[in-house]
Amino acid sequence: GSTCLYAVIGDPISHSISPELHNQIFERMGVNKAYIPIRIRPQDLQNGIPLLRDNIKGFNVTIPHKQEIMKYLDDLDERARAYGAVNTVKIEDGKLKGYNTDGLGFMMSLERENIDLEHKRILLAGAGGSARVVAYELLHKGCSLTIANRSEKRGQQLAAELEKSTGSGKVKSCRIEDIQPGYDIIINATPVGMHPFIDEMPIKEELLEGASLVYDLVYNPDQTKLLRTAAEKRIKTINGFPMLFYQAIKAQEIWLGETLRDDITDGVFIEMKEYLLKK
Ligand code: NDP
Repeated sequence: GSTCLYAVIGDPISHSISPELHNQIFERMGVNKAYIPIRIRPQDLQNGIPLLRDNIKGFNVTIPHKQEIMKYLDDLDERARAYGAVNTVKIEDGKLKGYNTDGLGFMMSLERENIDLEHKRILLAGAGGSARVVAYELLHKGCSLTIANRSEKRGQQLAAELEKSTGSGKVKSCRIEDIQPGYDIIINATPVGMHPFIDEMPIKEELLEGASLVYDLVYNPDQTKLLRTAAEKRIKTINGFPMLFYQAIKAQEIWLGETLRDDITDGVFIEMKEYLLKK
């Protein structure tokens, strides 16, 4: 039979590691499927939708289409609705359903390392799209959270919005300069640490004292200054790779309608980690 096609759409798209990741999954599964990057400019999204709908089974969505794509979908899952952003679309009988697997990817990355969230004081740096996803998941697990952002207003807005949707009474916000010490888990959801901020830390070094986990959503470079500093202090670290990896696994499972075999997931995890280090 003919090859089933999947894709990732975005602009720019040439740096995406999703094609490598998903094609490795297909290869290990031994299926006649392929995953391709498609550059779609913002002004071409509307015209691109029927082409995607009629030729492929599913696609991932990245910058700058994660919000805009929502206009063209027939249905949305709960998380995509809550985040106001879609990263995965499944096409069935000509209908498009939007999902967002970033939050599941984040939670899977914590599970993989057996991170216990109970009674932990958590600091989240950033108030953008990825901070929203992380905060939503943590609040749904019953965690207490402080959102620290450069622009105070954006941090306040996110905290207020999350409080409204979760009613948890457990989310605060502050300016990134005003963070008080005493956090167990510190999470960076800003681009500080990646190019062009390679030698910068999103928060002051002193704030790492006493922490049991430092998590950086940045995956390139593999070890940001924040993670190197934490490791020197013998604090456990997690970088952005596991989250990225598991959001892809979850997307694949949505398209398949079943869970992937552990040996396939584990094999691709190791291979992709090596692939990224060589990049
Ligand atoms: P957004 O653009 O939506 O948000 C960026 C956030 O970072 C804002 O809160 C912004 O603050 C803050 N910020 C930006 N530049 C600086 C700076 N120089 N100093 C301090 N704060 C700054 O980005 P995303 O949330 O989508 O992504 C953030 C990072 O997370 C990305 O760089 C990416 O590396 C990583 N990421 C990783 C994923 C993974 O799977 N591992 C998934 C998604 C993202 P302000 O409001 O003041 O502008």
